[in-house]
Amino acid sequence: AADLPALSESDPTAKALGYVEDATKTANAKHKAGDDCTNCQFYSGGPTGRGPCQLFPGKSVNAKGWCVSHTPKKA
Ligand code: SF4
Repeated sequence: AADLPALSESDPTAKALGYVEDATKTANAKHKAGDDCTNCQFYSGGPTGRGPCQLFPGKSVNAKGWCVSHTPKKA
């Protein structure tokens, strides 16, 4: 599959959801230590690099990114 264009932190929807490329850098109080896109149920990419997120159709998010809609993957 073709690589999706990267979601930008300055994208209006990304901003609305507090998306960051590096989960360890967010100052958002909703962020829990250890949470990033790789352990979010909306992410369908690999453990590194970038991958799709259901909340940002047509864009790729950073595996190590995060946003306020983070929802732990079901076991
Ligand atoms: Fe990452 Fe999940 Fe937010 Fe999508 S919903 S950007 S996978 S934390």
